[in-house]
Parts: sequence; C-alpha cells; structure tokens
Amino acid sequence: VIGPAVYVHPSAIVECDTVGPGTRIWAFAHVLKGALIGRNCNICDHCFIEGNVRIGDNVTVKTGVSLWDSVTIEDDVFIGPCVAFTNDIYPRSKRYPERYVPTLVRKGASLGANCTIVAGVTIGVYAMVGAGTVVTRDVPDFALFYGNPGRVRGYACKCAKVLRFANRRRMTCECGEGYQLRKGAWVNVAEASRDRIRQSR
Ligand SMILES: [Zn+2]
Repeated sequence: VIGPAVYVHPSAIVECDTVGPGTRIWAFAHVLKGALIGRNCNICDHCFIEGNVRIGDNVTVKTGVSLWDSVTIEDDVFIGPCVAFTNDIYPRSKRYPERYVPTLVRKGASLGANCTIVAGVTIGVYAMVGAGTVVTRDVPDFALFYGNPGRVRGYACKCAKVLRFANRRRMTCECGEGYQLRKGAWVNVAEASRDRIRQSR
C-alpha cells in the first residue's frame, strides 16, 4: 500500500499498490500495476517499471532506466542513468516468448551509466559494473567488471574502492574490510563471522 511517507511527483504515473515508506518517485516515471518497490528508494525521472518487477529497499534507479518484466533488484543496489535491461534473448517484433528470461541484481551491486545487461544473468553481491559495460555472463560477488563484453578485471570493496590481494585467497581494502575466498566465492570476513555467530545461537 502506498503510504503518506511516499513521495510521488505529480507528473509521475504510479499504478502499483506496493511502495515502501520513504521512497520517492520523480517526474515522468511510470510504474505499472503489480510492481513491488521497497523502502527508501529513489526512482528518478523518465524511469519505466513493468508489473513483474521487484525492487528491494534503499535502491537508486537513476534517470531513463526501464525495468522489464522478470527483472529483480535486491536491497542497496545502484542503477546508473540509462542502464539497459533486456528480458528476451530471441527478440522479434510482435513475437512474444512464453516466459521472459529473469535477471537478478543482488544486494549492494552498482551498475555504471549506460551499461547493457543481457537477459538471464545474475549480478553478484556488491559487484561493480563499469560504465558502458555489456554484461553477457554472470558477474561474481564483489567483482569489478567492465569492458565489451564485460570481464572480471579485479574486485571491489563494499565501500566501492578497488581491493588489493594479500595472497591468492585474501584481499584487503584501505577502509579496513577484508575478503576471503571460500568455496570458490569471495566473502566479506566481518560479515561471514557475524553470520556464523548468528547461526550458532
Ligand atoms: Zn573498503
């Protein structure tokens, strides 16, 4: 339900019923019925959001972004201006697929301006995708990913700075955060130990 703590610009069209408190939706944005938008989001001018789209909390969607059916955005994601999502990998005019191909952007990830996300990929936790990148494959957690087609070029901290390798299984950031390779995936050391304590309770 859209509560009083939601700001919708008088020139926006919001047809969905579920927008979390603190969210702002700016001019010429259009949100279709069925879309789920979390708390404290900022949906900027000229965004278009279809009905089968879920957006978590604290998400920023900069100007001119279309989120098509089957796109899911987790909490704390930044989507730069004019990022292009897709949901059909065999597009032809007037031919509709049986179902759209899902795309998942995981918690904390950032997508640079004008990058293109080919349908069916998962963008990992806190991944940093450079401006103009064409993403044709899954992006690992914390990866610094750019180019055309995009590749893993390094790793980024939660704070967005580039991580330095201490050895092959450990990376550190100048902000003090540490990362470890566990079962083939990079994890934030402080977060992993917090999770362990929670599980042992
Ligand atoms: Zn850092």
